[in-house]
Order: sequence, then C-alpha cells, then structure tokens
Amino acid sequence: MKKIRKYIFVVGGVLSGVGKGVTSASLGAIFKAKGFSVTALKADPYINVDAGTMNPVEHGEVFVTDDGDETDQDMGNYERFLDEDLNSENYMTTGRVYTSVIENERAMKYKGRCVQVVPHIPEEIIRRIKTAAELHKADISTIEIGGTVGEYENILFLEAARKMKLEKPDDVAIILVSYMPVPGHLGEMKTKPTQHAVRELNSVGLNADIIVARGPFVLDKPRREKLAVFCNISKDNCISAPDVKSIYQIPLVLEEQEVGNKLLKILNIKSRKTNLLAWNNLYKKIQNGKKIIKIAVVGKYFSTGSYTLSDSYISVIEAVKHGAWANNVKVEMDWVDSEEFEKNKNKIKELKKYNGILVPGGFGTRGVEGIIKAIQFARENKIPYLGLCYGMQLATIEFVRDVLNKKDAHTVEVNPETKNPVIHINPKQAENVRQNRYGGTMRLGAYDCVLKPGTKVFNAYNIEKDLPAGRQVSERHRHRYEFNNDYQDAMEKAGLQVVGINPESGLVEIVELKNHPFFVGTQFHPEFKSRPMRPHPLFREFIKAAAK
Ligand code: GLN
Repeated sequence: MKKIRKYIFVVGGVLSGVGKGVTSASLGAIFKAKGFSVTALKADPYINVDAGTMNPVEHGEVFVTDDGDETDQDMGNYERFLDEDLNSENYMTTGRVYTSVIENERAMKYKGRCVQVVPHIPEEIIRRIKTAAELHKADISTIEIGGTVGEYENILFLEAARKMKLEKPDDVAIILVSYMPVPGHLGEMKTKPTQHAVRELNSVGLNADIIVARGPFVLDKPRREKLAVFCNISKDNCISAPDVKSIYQIPLVLEEQEVGNKLLKILNIKSRKTNLLAWNNLYKKIQNGKKIIKIAVVGKYFSTGSYTLSDSYISVIEAVKHGAWANNVKVEMDWVDSEEFEKNKNKIKELKKYNGILVPGGFGTRGVEGIIKAIQFARENKIPYLGLCYGMQLATIEFVRDVLNKKDAHTVEVNPETKNPVIHINPKQAENVRQNRYGGTMRLGAYDCVLKPGTKVFNAYNIEKDLPAGRQVSERHRHRYEFNNDYQDAMEKAGLQVVGINPESGLVEIVELKNHPFFVGTQFHPEFKSRPMRPHPLFREFIKAAAK
C-alpha cells in the first residue's frame, strides 16, 4: 500500500487555553479509531530548550516522556488520548529549533551560505515534523502550534505550515481553534473576535480549512452562517465545541459532526468509518460512579490560586480520575496547604475526613515539615497514602525520624548538613548543581524497576490476568535526589519495605508499609503513564483502598 503522510496544523485564535491541545489529541483519537496510524507534535514558541526550566505554576506541568524529555503538559493529553508513548521528536521549542540551526552553522552544514531566519528556521521546523512522522510511521500527524495567531512568537511555526501547504496542498490541513465569547450583558455568542483571528491567519498566508468554535454553548445556525460568510469557510467546516463536563467526551462531540471525514476530504483521502466504541464505553464509565471518595492532595500552597495549581498537577489529577473510574466511584480532590499544619497543631486532625492522602512531586523547602506531618497522620491513622517522588522521599524521612527515632533525618535538598541524610545526592548530580547545570540534568525518563513478589505493589501491577506486568516494570523519573541505601536495613526491619529497585543501579524506586491498608511511595512518577482506558495500577489500587 502507498505510504500516507498527512499533516494537520492546529492553531489558536482569540485567546490561549481554549483547548487546542485537547482538540489535537481528540483528532488523533478519531483518526486512530478510523484505523490510521497517528502521531502528535507540539511546537512551543518559548526560547527555553525544554519545559524543565519553566515554572510549573505559570506554564503548567512538566510532562516527562520515556526518553527523558521535559515537555509541555499537552504532550500528556496526546499520550492519554492516543494511548501511545511519544518522545522528544514530538516536542520542539523555538530554543530547540534555533539551537539545531546554530549547531549546523558551526558545523559548516550550510556550506558557506548566509544562514537566515527565513528560510532556515522554518526548514528546521519542517524537518522535525517530518522526522516525527517517519519515526512513528504516522499516516496522520497533528502539529499544535502554541500561542495564538497574531503573536510575534509563533510566526515561524506558521511560516513552516504555509510552506508545507504550498508545496503539497493535499497533504496539509489547517485548523483554527477559536473562542466565541458570550458577554453576560448581551447573552449572545459573538463571532467578531474569530473573524479577526481569521484575518490574522490570512495575513501570514494561511486559510483555515476547519474552524473549531469553542465557547460556553453550541454554535447555533445564525452564528454558523456568520462565521461562514466572514471567515471564508463553508458552514459544514465550522465545528461546534461547547464546554463539556469531561474532556474525554470531546472525541465524541467532534465526531458527531463528522470532523474526521471532513478532514479526510480536505486531505484527499477516502472517508472511513470511525469505531468509537471504546470512547463511548469510557464516557459511560465516567458517568457511572455514584459513591464519592475524598482525596487530600497535600503540598505547598501556590499563591496564584487553584486554577494554576490544577494545571501544574494535571497528570496526577487525571491519573486519580482514571483510578476512580476503574473502581466505579467518583472522586473529589481537595488541595491542602501543608503550611497550615506547621502553623496550627490541631489542623492535622482535619485530614481524618479524607479517604486517601496523596503527596505529589515537588521541590524545595516550603511546606515540607507540614507535608511530613500529613504523612505521619496517614501512616498512624491507616489512611491510604500514595507518595509520588517527593512524596516518597518525605515518607521515608518521616519514618526514619519517627519510627527509627533519628529526629534530624532529612533530605540534603533541604538540610545539606543533616547527620541522617535519608535522601542524598550522587556526586555527578552534586557537580551539576555546583556548576549551575540545571537544564535537562535530573534523573529523567524511563528506568526499569524490579518488584518484590508478595507485596501490595507487586500484586497491583499483576492483578490483570490477561496483562500481568510480571516482575519488571518501567516508569518515568524526574528528580535529582535519591534514597540513601544505608538506611534500607533498619527501615525494612521496622516495617517500611523496599519493594521496587532499579536493577542497574540498585536505587530504591518504591517503598511500601507493612500492616497498613495502602501506604506506597514511588521515586518515579506513575501519573505519566496512566491512561483513561488503562489506569495506572498504583492509582487504581490506591483509590480501591480509599473506597473501602
Ligand atoms: N525534589 C526532589 C528531587 O529533586 C523530588 C522531585 C520531584 O518530586 N519530582 O529529588
């Protein structure tokens, strides 16, 4: 069969954060459900080489791939919707593109020519897009361009799209995801901002093949007609994408309007049936749960408010939900500020009302003592506990302090002088810190982990009879500090077992408490590998224990 290579660019209009990422991910899911092989790319306009050096409160979660790339949170959406592992070839930033061009220039790869922003930067962008398509053998690639049209920042990515479309018009489609506000005093959906966005798009030589009309409500007939006339597009190619309860509904909402076949027509491919059975079943499952489980997510408080907070932990939130659906329950997550436990002794008792306590990854000193108090509370009161990365490190510190009676036990990240460095740093990492080599130097990406049979963790990974994980699993990391194996024997004798170890390095990856309904800490981030239709075993079992 002839090789298909088609490219769908997804660009934003009016405002950012309207759902380009979920739109791209949903389109990928739809094409997969039509039997195509797909991949998804994100082009971030930042100069940062990767998202690892960006503040998660401002930029959202740093999503880590198997190959250890620190990428944008949208990559997590792609992986969850496509149920596929993506890698560094799926992610680029302006910084990354320029770095390649400059390295090529230094290596005389341009053979003495003058190296220019145009065409050399868009050419490098196109090379990256095509490489990802080749590596994933993707019939269809979606490429989400960060930001909105009309900005300076993303203009070279749009230029790459223009060039590709000009060269092979049948192989490239452009989707504008735009916002239709409904101002309160008018009560009417307005298309004007989108008309302006289309004009901006036209000014860089691009036409929207499809407009995805985001907004609080369904796109009605008069608005659809207006969009068609003023945005130079057929009515059929205006797709309504109103707010919905769950993002996992969106493939269904879009495909009800046959967006898949409309795009195939634009891309000159024969239309195909879409098998969305799995998505329909998932949606039923999401609605099914009745019993409500309350989970406290304990960490330092981010003063910018709960909106950004949930963006910084999006994979954790999603993984908790996946675990809840697998157990047919609904879950409510409260963000609990650990500093409150430091200020007020009695406050800790409020954790009693939760069915489970989760401590996600984190860095630095703020709120750490409060987190340790919360972990102690979970351990002593037998409340199911899941600690992710920092949440595992602090759980071992709490145990060594309180059970092994070494009161000054700590991580050297917070107290470099401690006599009991339960969490320490290896010499290579220490050198990175001394030399200010922060970018891309943590322990990153997938590492193997050998599980100890007979433990809750082992059983969690092996519960499915048709797909047991066996003794060895692979999980993704992002941290600089490690458990200090000098404490392993004493800790295990007292009941906190090491149940997962990296076979190459002997590093401790998972701890589990004996005689507790569920108390597990992982040095890795299991949330990155949880998928709506394949919940991560540890989240699933954590919620199961919480539901009891
Ligand atoms: N701050 C800890 C470390 O660097 C944990 C990092 C994390 O939770 N991702 O090791």
